[in-house]
Amino acid sequence: MIKRKIKNKNNFFWVYAVIFAIFLGIFFLKSTFSNPKKIDQDTFFEILSKGIVQKIIVQHKELVHVYIKQISILNNKKRILLEKGRLIIPSSLKYEFEIGDLQFFQIKFEKYKKKYHLDTIIDFKNQQEYTATKFFFDYGIFFILLIIFWFFIFKRIGTTGGGPGGQIFNIGKSKAKLFDENDNVKTTFKDVAGLEGAKEEVQEIVEFLKNPNKYTKLGGKIPKGALLIGPPGTGKTLLAKAVAGEAKVPFFSLSGSDFVEMFVGVGASRVRDLFEKAKERSPCIIFIDEIDAIGRSRGKSSIAGSNDERENTLNQLLTEMDGFDTNNHVIVLAATNRSDILDKALLRPGRFDRTISVDSPELNERKEIFHVHLKRLVLSKNVDIDFLARQTPGFSGADIANVCNESALIAARKNRSKIGNNDFLDAIDRIVGGLEKKNKIIKPNEKKRIAYHEAGHATVSWLLEHAAPLVKVTIIPRGKSLGSAWYLPEERQITTQEQMEDEICALLSGRSAEEIIFKSFSTGALNDLERVTKQAQSMVVIFGLNERIGNVSYYDSQGQNEFNFSKPYSEKTAQIIDEEISKIISKQYKRSKEILKKHKNELSTLAKNLLEKEVIFRNDLMKIFGERPFPDETDNILKNVENKT
Ligand code: ADP
Repeated sequence: MIKRKIKNKNNFFWVYAVIFAIFLGIFFLKSTFSNPKKIDQDTFFEILSKGIVQKIIVQHKELVHVYIKQISILNNKKRILLEKGRLIIPSSLKYEFEIGDLQFFQIKFEKYKKKYHLDTIIDFKNQQEYTATKFFFDYGIFFILLIIFWFFIFKRIGTTGGGPGGQIFNIGKSKAKLFDENDNVKTTFKDVAGLEGAKEEVQEIVEFLKNPNKYTKLGGKIPKGALLIGPPGTGKTLLAKAVAGEAKVPFFSLSGSDFVEMFVGVGASRVRDLFEKAKERSPCIIFIDEIDAIGRSRGKSSIAGSNDERENTLNQLLTEMDGFDTNNHVIVLAATNRSDILDKALLRPGRFDRTISVDSPELNERKEIFHVHLKRLVLSKNVDIDFLARQTPGFSGADIANVCNESALIAARKNRSKIGNNDFLDAIDRIVGGLEKKNKIIKPNEKKRIAYHEAGHATVSWLLEHAAPLVKVTIIPRGKSLGSAWYLPEERQITTQEQMEDEICALLSGRSAEEIIFKSFSTGALNDLERVTKQAQSMVVIFGLNERIGNVSYYDSQGQNEFNFSKPYSEKTAQIIDEEISKIISKQYKRSKEILKKHKNELSTLAKNLLEKEVIFRNDLMKIFGERPFPDETDNILKNVENKT
């Protein structure tokens, strides 16, 4: 890259040097040949009498150009040579003067010629001829140079812009990146872990592309497009690439925002260009990532007229998708995580006929994704994929790929020859919580409070039936948090009221530990309180888990209440909701305090341990509390991992 840039720079140095030289040359030529010295008539006749005037040209009966024999300008040596060789004597324009009366001048000139036996020629040129030549000499050459200069400037913009879209002349061309047989799209369905449903759907697209006759023979139409909907990083691009790799067809990849440019009409022209190119390479796949950048519903823009260009682009896309018939075998795959804001016209059959949802991976899918990404890593024997998958709820495929990579970097930093389970845990901590901040200055009394707060969480969640089992507790600050407790959450499809209440109780136990030990509160529980409030609120207004409110849900899955500022319930109900939320929270707070008071000694031992070691694991808790009173499946997993380590 760097080398190429330097080469480019050198090229331009030469271009500039040549242009500069041409300018200099012209300037020199002009000053030598076309800038005669002004003299008066008497001086002219004096010069004429010396016999050195080759010719005079009378321009438009007014101005006389005097051409002096070159020989007389040169030095003596050259003069001899030239005279002996009888060369044609060149002349150059040296002087000019104005004549008042032409007739009078001509008579005087003829007299001089006779008197001094001169061979000086007199010539007449009309105005037009004079202007044309002079004009060219004066301006034409500059125009040519200007054009050359512009040409190079444009070329330069083109080369530095990068990519096909960078060239100013190519602004209307599509920016799609093409992967074809030369690039060897090697991604196959094997590289896509999980996503069974989605894979099945796209499998059919591969079939269409590979064997279109099978479907068209029976009169069926090949779908024109499929829309992949799902959160970021869940493997939509990967899936589309796998389709291309499996079908062994060219793959045009670009993002919705690539169409958008500030110039009017560019987006539409890029769409046209993209489809033209695709038709040339058919059968092929066009993949448009983040299609919501252009596919947002029309006419909903907040500022009127601000999105005309985007609408034009979308219209063009719709037209193109309608326009090409299925025999072209171009299939458009598009991805978005905001299907709700897409224009309905995009989703109607004949455009994106299929909607394929690509969801965040579940436990088993995460395991498979780990398998795919762990293949290329050097692992120690204690790595437990099941445990890792459980430790990463809510992680997308991209997050898991990131964890794998990060763990390798962490192990390398510690000069290990193999990556261990703890490296993965550190990587997960880092991704969830941010960087460890070991140098953060924390006063001893603050540290003590943090230790008791975290010990409170650990104690209560150890003793409650439905709280998630603990993996580790730490008081090393990380990202914005000063300490944290890591759990192994149970993966479940539905949550019961008791489970929700236990979770609230465990979340509040940090604050209750502070109250019991220090008899005061701190701001350290902000995050806990936020989560508790949301949880309690959802119990009352969403899930119908409150007796007073009853089996009512104010949840709006259509999102139609987004801009509706009025509450869907009366003031009276609002008051009851508020009361019930605070009732749930205070009940659980009381409960957590009771548990901690009962186990105050264990709480203190745990906090002291934590202050000493900064990080403590499940094993340490077991030493203090003994076995968990309500062990579940996840406890066994943790035990297995510990045995391996
Ligand atoms: P999206 O397009 O949905 O935002 P990508 O397809 O670009 O996500 O995924 C980013 C990366 O995450 C992929 O290159 C891959 O390494 C990893 N990844 C995501 N989902 C999966 C999956 N299901 N199986 C394997 N790897 C995955």
